[in-house]
Amino acid sequence: MFPTHRPRRLRQHPQLRRMVQETLVTQADLIYPLFAVPGDQVAKEVSSMPGVYQLSIDKIVEEAKEVYDLGIPAIILFGIPDEKDTDATGAWHDCGIVQKATTAVKEAVPDLMVIVDTCLCEYTSHGHCGYLEVGDLSGRVLNDPTLELLKKTAVAQANAGADIIAPSGMMDGFVQAIRAGLDESGFEDLPILSYAAKYASAYYGPFRDAAESAPQFGDRRTYQMDPANGTEALKEIELDIAEGADMLMVKPALAYMDIIWRVKQATNLPVAAYNVSGEYAMVKAAALNGWIDEQKVVMETMTSFKRSGADLILTYHAKDVARWLG
Ligand SMILES: [Zn+2]
Repeated sequence: MFPTHRPRRLRQHPQLRRMVQETLVTQADLIYPLFAVPGDQVAKEVSSMPGVYQLSIDKIVEEAKEVYDLGIPAIILFGIPDEKDTDATGAWHDCGIVQKATTAVKEAVPDLMVIVDTCLCEYTSHGHCGYLEVGDLSGRVLNDPTLELLKKTAVAQANAGADIIAPSGMMDGFVQAIRAGLDESGFEDLPILSYAAKYASAYYGPFRDAAESAPQFGDRRTYQMDPANGTEALKEIELDIAEGADMLMVKPALAYMDIIWRVKQATNLPVAAYNVSGEYAMVKAAALNGWIDEQKVVMETMTSFKRSGADLILTYHAKDVARWLG
């Protein structure tokens, strides 16, 4: 007795395989991260992230045009300021690097969506995501005073022309605080993409080289989530939804596809996955050694993010993926 069902029947021809393919990756799924630094004509490659650069604003604008021409709808901006201090002045000042970069990109490429990362760790002298008690070396960020700074930062970013505000510091109540700040300033139509489930992950290592944001002492485990916890992610997203988040993010992505899946099942909001620096660096290192087929591995990974429920993918591979999609 042969089996009645032979799943291989539908795999016999490339066109047939195309017809039954369940998951598609398109350019519209992609968000490309960029790092803005002061200066002119600066393009400094991040040693642990081949192909990723710290760019001065003139170069960010060139990059933004290229990204837009490739059909990618959005970038997310991170900033590295000239000076850092305990008040994270560079984050919320009108002349902050991200604010200036945002305005420049919106002038040059108005139809490219500019997402701004709203956090303080790139701007604080200690590298933590908010205020610390003076002399506290544990890294226990003071939650509520930090909310005020985040609110100020988001409003400054909105004033600069940002299209989407993306708070990433995992402070309790940060979506509500930012929503209130935006609404009070007349930005009630500006969406919030919340880093809702962000884990204290070792996969962020190369990003901290890129953003020069490694904590000077302590770690981020009093605010970012424990990688061991999945159900807690659902609590975090529930709170962010209640506070007014328009889109939710899971970060990192590769080791957290179960979380992407659970979040997608639990919400009707769009879900973004952040394919982080360490995930990128591993692929690049293996590809540069000739150990893997970079294009096939990256495309398989992107498809898997979408299959696991991601609607959007923040990735350093975005330009390559867009080119490969043709
Ligand atoms: Zn941060």
